[in-house]
Amino acid sequence: MQTMNIALVAHDNMKSELIEWAKANSEILEKHNLIGTGTTGQIIENELNLVVTKLHSGPLGGDQQLGALIAENKIDIMVFFWDPLQPQPHDPDVKALLRLTVVWNIPVANNRATADFIFSSYYMTEDYKRKVPDFSQHLKRKIQ
Ligand code: PGA
Repeated sequence: MQTMNIALVAHDNMKSELIEWAKANSEILEKHNLIGTGTTGQIIENELNLVVTKLHSGPLGGDQQLGALIAENKIDIMVFFWDPLQPQPHDPDVKALLRLTVVWNIPVANNRATADFIFSSYYMTEDYKRKVPDFSQHLKRKIQ
């Protein structure tokens, strides 16, 4: 089994949902490196007694730090329970983070059902070689 870098993020109204899900999946989570936005990471540490590398709080730059880690190929899976019912002050950062997960082909769970599917996947225990997109053509594109 490969040790993966798993990012955990939840907006405030979704933090209890993430904690509940994380408790149900703690045996898997404890086998991997966990990285979280500041408050989410702190709550996971407190509630699950797991070590989490904590970035800044999301609205203070944590989402952007996570996006940078994704662009550097340092994140393998992201579990991000964002709040569909409340506007966020850092909505542009949220959008940018989600965009980068698509750019770099990162598996993302934005709700509990998807997180359950990912965490029960065959690839959680067998080595999975995620295809890192090749952007060489983009880099060579003609600029007028
Ligand atoms: P937080 O950030 O974990 O610091 O609350 C989450 C977010 O809103 O991105």
